[in-house]
Amino acid sequence: MLSYQHAYHAGNFADVHKHLTLYAVIDHLLRKSSPITFFDTHAGRGLYPLEASETQRLGEYRHGMLPLWQAREALSDEPLLASWLEAIAGLQPNPGRLERYPGSPWWLSQRLRRDDRLQLFELHPGEHEHLAQQALPTNVRRIHADGLAGLSAALPVATPRVCALLDPSYELKAEYAEVAVSVLGAMRKARHAVVLVWYPLLPAARHLELLERLRDGGLRKIWRSELTLREPGEERGMYGSGMLVVNPPWGLDERLAAAMARVTPLLGDTSRYRADWWVEE
Ligand code: SAM
Repeated sequence: MLSYQHAYHAGNFADVHKHLTLYAVIDHLLRKSSPITFFDTHAGRGLYPLEASETQRLGEYRHGMLPLWQAREALSDEPLLASWLEAIAGLQPNPGRLERYPGSPWWLSQRLRRDDRLQLFELHPGEHEHLAQQALPTNVRRIHADGLAGLSAALPVATPRVCALLDPSYELKAEYAEVAVSVLGAMRKARHAVVLVWYPLLPAARHLELLERLRDGGLRKIWRSELTLREPGEERGMYGSGMLVVNPPWGLDERLAAAMARVTPLLGDTSRYRADWWVEE
């Protein structure tokens, strides 16, 4: 039985890293007019009221989204951050107050055009129920099913372009390998797909299995970025957040480097951001 609920972690440093990367990818893809089918294989609730008891319990957004929100005026000269923060500001019921944090379904649906498509998979019945209650455009499908199997079954698609986000909770060790198998399978069916994969950085370093399987899988371009809060010492728990982008849009690395150079110092004295090509032809 699944127990992970993203509401306990909404708006934390990993969400900032993941959603800013996703936002930049979407922004690049929307520069061309040809339609796109988007997939979110692990959608979660879609929207997180920060006052919710689950979110208040750990209050992780106070060390993630909140410092950025508080610095938004100073960050307004950085183009990617300015538009990302403006999108978040537009979502708040009371101007000037950070009361809601948007999840990946919101980021993916917010700028969807008439001929684009979005499929949101969520397996947890309670989380899916929350997602079903969100107001989303009509070209968004919410599917209560396994997202990895759902992605595989849905490919290839009718639109010329495809973009998928895989953002599991990695509650089970097997998920690292399953995600790699799923990405490689998806790329065989849609060679030009842009695929984003989030992974946690934990002392056990299980993400290396995911990375190595992808490196050995014959893909041509995989870009990696990691945001760490501290060195991976003895301390338990997640010390960093990782993102892979298969077939990244041109210029993504520079845009994110400029934005993350401003974000990273706001997340603590020991936080670091680094990015490189994990696979380059
Ligand atoms: N992508 C979301 C975001 O950025 O706002 C957060 C997703 S959260 C990290 C992972 C979600 O995946 C949880 O809501 C969990 O219930 C769901 N989940 C776990 N296994 C799944 C599966 N096999 N298929 C679809 N959803 C799954």
